Amino acid sequence: MTGGKAMGTSGPTQGPGRTAGNQGPKLTPAQGAQQAEQRLGKPCYHAGQQVPGVYSCITCQFRINNRGTLPGCPDCGEIIWAYMGDGPRPVPEGETAPAAEAAAPPPPAEETVAIEEPVQEPVKVEEGIKLEP
Ligand SMILES: [Zn+2]
Repeated sequence: MTGGKAMGTSGPTQGPGRTAGNQGPKLTPAQGAQQAEQRLGKPCYHAGQQVPGVYSCITCQFRINNRGTLPGCPDCGEIIWAYMGDGPRPVPEGETAPAAEAAAPPPPAEETVAIEEPVQEPVKVEEGIKLEP
């Protein structure tokens, strides 16, 4: 096989813009994670959330063992990750209950009242309770 001459110009295959398949309105990372979760049936998170565990990029299946904050996919740039671990879905740091206490500013102290409640001891659970009428 004899190769011919160089064939014309072989330009880079990079397109002018990022036209990744995502259509429709832009989603926030949280919404994107939600959609991915519904689609994949796995807990999904986005870059910036602090969730430990093994995650798989929802676009290229790149796997990471995350410890701190989720990064963007080092392979394709995706920011949504699917949780691959077993067990219950991990709860990201700082995203516990809907009632976010951290977001609420401390109320102005009108009066200086020091209330010190004694620490309650944990209630002992008695074992072997019989359910008798
Ligand atoms: Zn990826």
